[in-house]
Amino acid sequence: MDIMQLDQTYVAGTYKRFPVEIVSGKGSLVRDAAGKEYIDMGSGIAVTSFGVADDEWIAAVEAQIHRVQHMSNLYYTAPCANLAEALCLRTGMKKVFFGNSGAEANECAIKVARKWAAETKGPACSTIVTLENSFHGRTLTTLAATGQDHYHELFRPLTPGFIHIPANDPDALEKLCADDAIAAVLIECVQGEGGVIPLDPGYVSALNDFVRRRNILLMADEVQTGNGRTGLLYAYMHYGIRPDVVTTAKGLAGGLPLGACLLGERVQNVLSFGDHGSTFGGNPVASAAALSVLNRLTDSFLAEVRAKGALLRSLLEGAPGILSVSGLGLMLGIRTEKPAAEVVRTCMEHGVLCLTAKDKVRLLPALNIPEELLRNAAAVLRAACA
Ligand SMILES: *Cc1c(COP(=O)(O)O)cnc(C)c1O
Repeated sequence: MDIMQLDQTYVAGTYKRFPVEIVSGKGSLVRDAAGKEYIDMGSGIAVTSFGVADDEWIAAVEAQIHRVQHMSNLYYTAPCANLAEALCLRTGMKKVFFGNSGAEANECAIKVARKWAAETKGPACSTIVTLENSFHGRTLTTLAATGQDHYHELFRPLTPGFIHIPANDPDALEKLCADDAIAAVLIECVQGEGGVIPLDPGYVSALNDFVRRRNILLMADEVQTGNGRTGLLYAYMHYGIRPDVVTTAKGLAGGLPLGACLLGERVQNVLSFGDHGSTFGGNPVASAAALSVLNRLTDSFLAEVRAKGALLRSLLEGAPGILSVSGLGLMLGIRTEKPAAEVVRTCMEHGVLCLTAKDKVRLLPALNIPEELLRNAAAVLRAACA
């Protein structure tokens, strides 16, 4: 059997894969089994922050693999501690819990919110508010947090205690009454899976006022938007807010599984011995990779991400067949006249890998994609849309 048949026979059928087997790559170029080369405009869904098989990333991973690849959380290891320090220094957050994925980072945030609220406002105060059209993960609890019904249908009963309200609607906030016993509000500053939709700045500041007034936690899901993706280290930084909890994963370790739940001042001591844990959480190899990624996300590098985002946007906006472009930095959603899936297929035929989000084409290239590749990919995309 070839690889595609083997996969279809033995791998659970949760993914509708394209008939392409990727075997290798370098930076923003990847190659399939037939030797065809593609410009990668998806970077593993915002994971390979510095592209595929990046030399600095390999060096960081390799150095740690030769020392120790894993220890239990019964012992100290340097990469995990160094990474936690670096994340806190760059954000002003106070402590970090490490898991292995975005869903786990959000699970941790939800546990923190519930325990904080139970201790400070009483055990009945357990509701988490999230936004309609949000995406927070695939576990039963993060599905409950996800504000899109079609993800819920076959898996009820979900974890109780979640309310979804329309995004960008300050009135919907004011309608949440005291009886709702709200512990926290969880938002994506740019809804990713929902179609690459940034929240209105005015709404975010109204939300910020609301949570302060009502003594509610503000939690930012930066699983997709974090780690430089939007041209600042975290997307909340565009909005001038300071969330109490920030979750991230995807691009954090540049291609290894790592999730983090960053805890701000108000919740820094909520978790104590035994409250939470993860066997692989803070794994030294993943942490070493993440530290090398974070060290490269300097202010000047992030300015380049913003410039590349603006360039990509200008190459696409107003082109024939392109109705609109949304997003921030190198996280863009493109509304096209043709169905997005058809555009993605055409691009693939012409050597460019793109993603979709809802009915849009979604672009999440590596943060260090060379300008020339960005221009070439944009030309292919424009032709596919016309
Ligand atoms: C991808 C994503 C998740 C889930 O992350 P996993 O690592 O797949 O568990 C959660 N929230 C947002 C905003 C995401 O984009």
